[in-house]
Amino acid sequence: MTVELGERTSLAEIREELLDCESAEERLNYLIEIGETLPPFPEALGVEEYRVLGCQSMVWLVPTVTDDRIEFIATSDAPMVRGLISILIAAYSGTTSQEILEFPIEQFFDEIELKSFITPMRSNGLHSMILRVKSIAGETQGNRASNPANVDSPASERPKRVVTKTIENAAADFPILRRKHSSGSRLVYLDSAASSQRPKQVIDAISHVYSTHYSNVHRSGHELAAETTVAMESARSAVGRFINAPNWNNSEVSKSIVFTSGTTASINLVARAWGEANLEMDDEIILTEMEHHSNIVPWQQLAQMIGATIRWLPIRDDYQLDIDRLPELLSKRTKMVAVTAVSNVLGTINPVRTIAEMAHRVGSLVLVDAAQAIPHGDVDVQSMDADFVVFSGHKMLGPTGIGVLYGKTELLNAMPPFMGGGNMIKSVSKTGFEPAGLPHRFEAGTAPIVEAIAMQKAVEYLESFEEGAILAHERSLASEVHRRFKDIRGVKVYGPDIEAKNGIVTFAIEGMHADEVGRRLDLQGIAIRVGHHCAMPLHQKLGLSATCRASFYLYNTLEDVEVFCDAIERMLTERRQ
Ligand code: PMP
Repeated sequence: MTVELGERTSLAEIREELLDCESAEERLNYLIEIGETLPPFPEALGVEEYRVLGCQSMVWLVPTVTDDRIEFIATSDAPMVRGLISILIAAYSGTTSQEILEFPIEQFFDEIELKSFITPMRSNGLHSMILRVKSIAGETQGNRASNPANVDSPASERPKRVVTKTIENAAADFPILRRKHSSGSRLVYLDSAASSQRPKQVIDAISHVYSTHYSNVHRSGHELAAETTVAMESARSAVGRFINAPNWNNSEVSKSIVFTSGTTASINLVARAWGEANLEMDDEIILTEMEHHSNIVPWQQLAQMIGATIRWLPIRDDYQLDIDRLPELLSKRTKMVAVTAVSNVLGTINPVRTIAEMAHRVGSLVLVDAAQAIPHGDVDVQSMDADFVVFSGHKMLGPTGIGVLYGKTELLNAMPPFMGGGNMIKSVSKTGFEPAGLPHRFEAGTAPIVEAIAMQKAVEYLESFEEGAILAHERSLASEVHRRFKDIRGVKVYGPDIEAKNGIVTFAIEGMHADEVGRRLDLQGIAIRVGHHCAMPLHQKLGLSATCRASFYLYNTLEDVEVFCDAIERMLTERRQ
């Protein structure tokens, strides 16, 4: 398609005209005037792919790269925004990617005193447009660079961490760990697999938002709404970077990160929105015997609705997935393999990349439940090659009520919305509605705004440790428990060897009900979880109704291990007397 670039007003002319204006109103009128000189924008290009997210109005921007220059055409449904677009076109269109990246646009905005006549929300929208222009320039440069090392942050490479924290000092960041148990004992919190505690950075962020700029997002145009919208969208980008989502270094990443209320909500969203549109009778879904109910029941509901079948990948006697059995389960009928990255009962770390490769070979999609993997901060969705990855904020030092669905954008784009309501539409009439683009089409209603913003603090906190350090620490504590338990008669551990697991130690004590073990430990200030841990099929397989689970995280110490193991030892000694 050939597009008309039209006559262009120069930046110098725009500066001169604006500085000649005597009031903010005159300047706005001038913006509207130059907006009218934009060339016509072909309707066919007004598609999601070219939409600029983060703007209050609808904005589309299309680049055309010829030789080493980039031309832009763009439009908006707001006349004033078309004026701002004219400025961007004057600044950037027809220049090289290097010139785009180097051009000091902020200096120009200061010269024309832009902030004195546009609202913060418009200013944020403008910033989103500039980010898009720069990311296009960055990508163009990246495609050209003969040496990939010359390119800043290539999209597929994990960002480098700036390590500022050590595990040894982590516990001090968690105010709750300073409280005493009602018995007077020190609190030994060994239930992080159910929900982690939060560092003060996350707690303070929640209070900061409510005390300084809280407002609803993506709706009103006032200053508070603008600040909160920017903070929430910044959190979305931070999550993308944290899991190494494709395009984590530009605004495109936001399309692949949907905020939900948690892992459970994310899986239900996929099961319903993707499942109902893509599954037919007799299709098959593969689950593993170590799934959490959240990764079982939504698929059972879907299977019942469609007439699909669920097949189960068994676990071996060493508490690892029997991956050799996967080929006999996979077939052309397999449409989804949904697997946990880490078992919430056994702590087993599963080979999700291998599973994804095998599933993709028969054309199946893969959903990874990363609820127990994400707390270690090493989840890399690109190296997993999963189609969907889901997790919760509350297990990774973040707030409750927030979770994430990461999805490959081509899949999310093809999925119909799951819940209907505000925020998820482009337009509504009496005869129907047109859904919004990604990620908003899956975020009906008011989002967990403050939770999302505080989630960014959790992400940044986890990123301040060396990669692999959290898992290594948990493992060293769990390994010490294994060592102590070997010497205590009457304790049985359920889980693989330490190299194949994380910091979860699930166990049973001979002749004592799990509830009783939990109760006795609680009396001494030691918090563990007892029961079936929302994994009844796994417990049925193990022939158990309940187990005890101690889960270690970055703030636990060797002293916690000692207090816990001593208490178990005492419990058994007392029983024998
Ligand atoms: N999957 C796994 C592996 C889990 O451990 C959990 C939480 N125990 C969930 C899913 C469900 O997470 P949420 O309750 O936050 O939705």
